Amino acid sequence: MVWFAISVIGCVLLARNELVQLREAFEIDARISHRLLSQRVVQHEAVLATLALLQPAAPDGSADLAEQRLSSVYPQILSVQRRDAGAAWLGTGLDEAEQASRQSRAAALANADFTSARGRYQLVLAAQPASYALLIDIHGTIPWNDWSMPVQTSPVRVTLEHAGQAFVVQAGRVAAGGWRFAFHKHLDSVSQPFEVVAIRQVGWQELPWLAMTLWAVAVAAALATWSAWQGQRSARRRAEALLRVGQVARLNTLGELAAGMAHELNQPLTAILANTQAAKRLLQEDPGELPTALQAMDQAVAQARRAAEVLGRLRRTVEQPARAAPGQTVDLAQVVRSALDLLEPECQGRGVTASVHIEQIALVLAERVALEQIVHNLITNALQALDAVPASERLLAIHIGAAKGMGVLRVVDTGSGIAPDTLPHVFEPFFTTREGGLGLGLSLCETLASGMGGHLSAQANVPRGAIFVLSLPLAPAP
Ligand code: ADP
Repeated sequence: MVWFAISVIGCVLLARNELVQLREAFEIDARISHRLLSQRVVQHEAVLATLALLQPAAPDGSADLAEQRLSSVYPQILSVQRRDAGAAWLGTGLDEAEQASRQSRAAALANADFTSARGRYQLVLAAQPASYALLIDIHGTIPWNDWSMPVQTSPVRVTLEHAGQAFVVQAGRVAAGGWRFAFHKHLDSVSQPFEVVAIRQVGWQELPWLAMTLWAVAVAAALATWSAWQGQRSARRRAEALLRVGQVARLNTLGELAAGMAHELNQPLTAILANTQAAKRLLQEDPGELPTALQAMDQAVAQARRAAEVLGRLRRTVEQPARAAPGQTVDLAQVVRSALDLLEPECQGRGVTASVHIEQIALVLAERVALEQIVHNLITNALQALDAVPASERLLAIHIGAAKGMGVLRVVDTGSGIAPDTLPHVFEPFFTTREGGLGLGLSLCETLASGMGGHLSAQANVPRGAIFVLSLPLAPAP
């Protein structure tokens, strides 16, 4: 609905703008036509006034009247008639026009015929001693050379109208439907007050459909991008929340585990303590009670075995899920990308931009969740190690490759590094150098990696930092 509303509003504005521009262009053309035609017809009045004033006469004995040569200068003037005092006009209607001219003291119109193909009218001016009449061709009156529109192709219809008759100057295209622009104005001439009528019919097909379609598509694309971005944002928020929940759950399980261990081991350890103390006391006595002391030591050994059994059982329980999980084909690069995506706030907070180098695509056989956990832990550790160095020296690179049938992931950082005497211990459970650290991350990672038939190792980076190398069996080619 939002798309529809924005699209419609945009399209209406585009269409409106187009119509305004078309109307402006139409008005300009119509005004130019009116002005040009007005200038032309005024010439006729000037010609008549000049003839009446000068009264040109034929050279003696010649029938060649000077006024008959006017057509060479004004092609629209087809002929000039002169009526001397006492003579009669050739043709009808001219007497009445002369009468009217005499009364109005201006040229008068006669025999207007606008309907024939070319159009004709006569203009009469009463004068002394001779009166004059011009026969004017309407088509020739139109200043085609200065015409602002292409006569054959212009969509504007232009007509010159007089007393219910119309001479078509330009046919234009007048269809039904759409929008209609109209212009009506009389020519600026007293004797020839013909009306210039211009009509422009804008059809639906003339609307800017391409721009309107592009607008609708652009709005759809923008909305799709926006909603995808929103979706991504909420997906990330969900993933972060899930991770937090997962971490809390892991800690809770860990707490449960520790409490269980404390409970299970407390009894055998108390018994071992009591028995070894009793044995010591018995051996210190003089003479020592050897058989009873031996019995107490046997009991201590039995309790110690029990404690070891509890630990063994516990280990098997912890390791089992990873071992049991079925392997699937996982793209190492994809896992790295999703881990980096989840850890983006942490990276940003430290000003660290992780670079990912894919030397070879590595599709490994692994349990996706376990693999994600390993990669997540390794990157988190690297980020924590980077805290110890100045922001400008913090580099984190992740290389993905394959060698000897194994997919290899290397997490390289320029952080605090691992001291040579610490290196052998980093995979031991509960080994940590971090304040508040549990020391279980790497041990868990190693357990998970070996559960999937892989291997996790650590080494020093040169000149500074640490490199963790995870190798996992490559998935068989499909
Ligand atoms: P924790 O992070 O709780 O300390 P881990 O098992 O993840 O537990 O790490 C164990 C120890 O290994 C850390 O305390 C740290 O001394 C060392 N370590 C792990 N990763 C790195 C690393 N990238 N750079 C330096 N030391 C590391």
